[in-house]
Amino acid sequence: MSLPQFKLLRPRTVEEAVSLLAKCTDSIATGDSPAHNIRIVAGGTDLIPSMRQKLFEPQYVLDIRHIAELKGIHQQGSGVEIGALTSLTNIERSDLLRRRYAVLTEAAATVASPLLRNMGTLGGNICLDTRCLWYNQSLTWRKGCGFCIKKDGDLCHVAPGGTRCWAAFSGDTPPALLCLNADIEIAGASGLRRMPLREFYTGDGVTYRNLEPNELVTRVFLPESSADYSGVYRKLRVRGSIDYPLAGVAVVIKRSNGHVAEARVAVTAVNPAPLLVKGASELLAGKIVDEDLADAVGNLAAKTAKPLTTSALTPEYRREMIRVFTKRAVLVAASD
Ligand SMILES: Cc1cc2nc3c(=O)[nH]c(=O)nc-3n(C[C@H](O)[C@H](O)[C@H](O)COP(=O)(O)OP(=O)(O)OC[C@H]3O[C@@H](n4cnc5c(N)ncnc54)[C@H](O)[C@@H]3O)c2cc1C
Ligand code: SF4
Repeated sequence: MSLPQFKLLRPRTVEEAVSLLAKCTDSIATGDSPAHNIRIVAGGTDLIPSMRQKLFEPQYVLDIRHIAELKGIHQQGSGVEIGALTSLTNIERSDLLRRRYAVLTEAAATVASPLLRNMGTLGGNICLDTRCLWYNQSLTWRKGCGFCIKKDGDLCHVAPGGTRCWAAFSGDTPPALLCLNADIEIAGASGLRRMPLREFYTGDGVTYRNLEPNELVTRVFLPESSADYSGVYRKLRVRGSIDYPLAGVAVVIKRSNGHVAEARVAVTAVNPAPLLVKGASELLAGKIVDEDLADAVGNLAAKTAKPLTTSALTPEYRREMIRVFTKRAVLVAASD
């Protein structure tokens, strides 16, 4: 599958990137929507295969890999700042992150394969497009089976009669970042804005993130208050060596005198957005973790998960694995 034709733009600074984004989204020669006129590429491990499948055919591609200021992991005040272009390998291998924010290094280490983690970036993982069996296919396949709401069509094969898309957000690091109460920084024409990651995702499979076409994610901030938790990430995938998650769960727990002082649980790949499990922190707080409590948290996580037939595995199995993985992860995190 060949790539569609596009013009490659290579900014060296965030300012230059923002100005190019503004220019390309303002003056649309194609009559296409602003979001479709230009696409950002970081590691390209998701965008390029999608462009080959003609899921995106932008007139311009903004290659941000040469913006040096967006690479690296830095202690910043009392927390840690991670540039959006930091590779997943560097996150996986960071001593600082492993020591203080272990759930993130564990989640990063499960993304795809070593080669893809060398290229793939944290920003790309956060901004990853949602996935569905009916969408991540070649143009010929999609034409043969009929287009859908997410691209070129007006119906959903997964939830017929519905008017929205349920494609699953399938990134591994966002649930870990949600557990760590991470903020992200976004650069756009009106400057920089910062928001909690939990407000970034919309829950809709098409417009899955709160990002304007003329904006890019620049940094991730991990607060000091989230450091030194015991953290565990577990994921379900078809091929253990390379695949996207079909269900994933991150758990962080901080204990004091054997009791849970604070805890958070988040799930991925089972909804159009990665989500914190409501009620899990309250259920765990102040308790000593045992099988029954871990089971109850697993049940809560399974209630949060609403998988549909967007992947090769059945929704029932993915939901059940969220329950099982959550229980196991809670027991492991509480035993550290
Ligand atoms: C075979 C295979 C297996 C994979 N398995 C997994 C897996 O197990 N888990 C997983 O999480 N991912 C997986 N991926 C997807 C991908 O490799 C990772 O998610 C990776 O982190 C994406 O980062 P990237 O820099 O390559 O993103 P890109 O492909 O460059 O971009 C991805 C998306 O994010 C946007 N984007 C990138 N950076 C920014 C930014 N700074 N601001 C705004 N938008 C931005 C792009 O426009 C694009 O829409 C897999 C990919 C392949 C090909
Ligand atoms: S969930 Fe429905 S609309 Fe969304 S990609 Fe799948 S088939 Fe298309």
